[in-house]
Amino acid sequence: MKSAIAALAALAFITAAKAEQPYAQDRIVWNKPTAPFHIIGNVYYVGTAGISVYLIETRKGVILIDAALPESVPHVERNIKALGFDLKDIKIILAGHAHFDHAGGLAAVKRDSGARLFASQADKPVLETGQIDYGPCKDVPFDPVKVDQVVKNGDKISFGGVTLTAYLTPGHTRGCTSWTMPVVENGQKHTILFACSLTVGGAPLVGNTAYPRIIDDFRHSFSRMRAFDTDILLTQHPYNADELGKASRVKAGAPNPFVNRDDLGRYVDAAERDFDAELARQSAKP
Ligand SMILES: [Zn+2]
Repeated sequence: MKSAIAALAALAFITAAKAEQPYAQDRIVWNKPTAPFHIIGNVYYVGTAGISVYLIETRKGVILIDAALPESVPHVERNIKALGFDLKDIKIILAGHAHFDHAGGLAAVKRDSGARLFASQADKPVLETGQIDYGPCKDVPFDPVKVDQVVKNGDKISFGGVTLTAYLTPGHTRGCTSWTMPVVENGQKHTILFACSLTVGGAPLVGNTAYPRIIDDFRHSFSRMRAFDTDILLTQHPYNADELGKASRVKAGAPNPFVNRDDLGRYVDAAERDFDAELARQSAKP
């Protein structure tokens, strides 16, 4: 009996510990290391196995998109160096959205590189406090980081011969930002879409007083995303567009597997289906 009580107490302790550590298991899975790889043209992957960080080489230095989890930073920085870059080469960091798993590493990477951080107005307060005010991520604060330049919908960032255009695709966060960029490889022109996340991620859709426009924003972003004219989809979690699988299928002389006009439609359709199901589930709640 005593041992049963002890076991129950231990279980209660483990359960409580788990409750105190939201996303504890996800973080372990997401943070598994993966080697950096070339995607196309001047674009590389330097993230972890579960969280994307993209590196864009320019004539004046490097642009980085996102910085993954705080605990991912040593791995991301190692990947950047493994490609032959110095951390001081990073001149600009673009924030996709203000959740701990993409923005948690921003403060450290910014400190180590001296880069300037660009982000949307709507995500700026979350980045600068390290605290979102709704949904499960509100229990996972991260190191606050100063935003040096705010980007609006349609803003172009030109640096070292590269131009990225910002598009606000809110819903997943209030300021979720996607970026497009032309790229040339083997004389062929392509357009990359660095797509912001489209998942609900456990956020309240119904009765979200902190973010009352959340449903409208998601709907608007689904149609905005679908309208992008892109043949290369890169997402913030690499399983969304099978980025790691594609990397393993790259073969010299064969078509680049990252070029695929169907990826975007598939990505948005799946996200919208999940959104509709989650909205129906939340709406049916008594
Ligand atoms: Zn997120």
